[in-house]
Amino acid sequence: MTAKITLLPGDGIGNEIIEGAVKVTKAVAEKFDMTLQFEERLIGGCSYDKYGKPLTEDTLQTCYDSDAVLLGAVGGYKWEALPHHLKPEAALLDLRKKLELFINIRPSKIFPAFVNDSSLKKEVLEGTDFIVLRELTGGIYFGEPRGYDKDKGWNTMSYTRPEVERIARKAFELAKNRSRKVTSVDKANVLEVSQFWREIVSEVHKDYPDIELSNMYVDNAAMQIVRNPRQFDVILTSNMFGDILSDIGGMITGSLGMLPSASLGEKYALYEPVHGSAPDIAGQNKANPIAAISSAAMMFDISFQMTKAAELIDAAIERTLKQGKRTVDIHSEGCELVSTQQMTDAILTNFEEIYNEQALGVFTL
Ligand code: NAD
Repeated sequence: MTAKITLLPGDGIGNEIIEGAVKVTKAVAEKFDMTLQFEERLIGGCSYDKYGKPLTEDTLQTCYDSDAVLLGAVGGYKWEALPHHLKPEAALLDLRKKLELFINIRPSKIFPAFVNDSSLKKEVLEGTDFIVLRELTGGIYFGEPRGYDKDKGWNTMSYTRPEVERIARKAFELAKNRSRKVTSVDKANVLEVSQFWREIVSEVHKDYPDIELSNMYVDNAAMQIVRNPRQFDVILTSNMFGDILSDIGGMITGSLGMLPSASLGEKYALYEPVHGSAPDIAGQNKANPIAAISSAAMMFDISFQMTKAAELIDAAIERTLKQGKRTVDIHSEGCELVSTQQMTDAILTNFEEIYNEQALGVFTL
């Protein structure tokens, strides 16, 4: 198999963490007999500095020509005063729009070695493994009319049938390879747009009779994620509700430096850590590369249908955490403080070892 991957490290810690993700990606490719072609381009503040715009046509075209895009992060103090359309963050919104990435996926999966570091009790958290599937290009964040004046502010939450159908279909498809349970989250007791959402999701569900569908109001869902996160498998929801629920889901299972994400459309896929460019620690070899490496694992799973490769990466991260290695953001007493490079190297070593162990049958995924 051959795959083209566009690398967009971006600003701040972007280079450091993407370097780690690339090393792991190359190690996977070697083991799984895969040929990878990498193209690296600028995005965000570094692109503005060189070309006067945060996203160039060349960068965009390179993304169009690839099978997957791996992005670091954009932004930093230096570009804060720029007009909105030239800010590094504008490049991200533009890229997502141009690649028509209408789905955002954020997993909430607890690494067992990390179970005592969460704000939730171990008994509540253990075994948690769900994803929040958020509609990314519609709903209240984009609805018209919008605005405010002296006396009033207003936004519009609307969804069209194709918008709901395509994301619902994706949720049922993803659930096929998981625990076959979709929870559609809405506010249908108050909002007509949610009643509409619920109806369309039920219609699409008829094509997936072997997947269990339930509906939940968003306020209850927020409570249930914290009360009993194990009950969820795939949470399907709209843009704003997903924005909030994916943060809750992410934070109960890890810290910012450990949370990966995938944004998908019909044709293109972009994988990136949830965190930003962390200018406060940029260039100091301190950043946690796990979110970027986990994003690469999602790429193997979703874009290349290489679930085993993704599981091996996750297992290597798990073993590294179990060995007590921690970057500064997740460090606690009794653990070994490691740099970005040391964390990456440890994950690579563990990946090699686990790969060999499972080939010999002494380790099972
Ligand atoms: P941030 O996520 O960059 O940092 C928040 C805090 O978390 C900082 O203390 C940082 O040091 C720490 N942190 C983040 N990632 C880490 C990692 N991998 N390892 C260790 N520590 C980590 O958020 P911010 O400070 O609000 O924003 C900084 C810049 O990033 C801004 O310009 C913002 O607009 C941008 N940003 C970009 C994205 C993106 O590219 N997707 C997302 C959020 C923020």
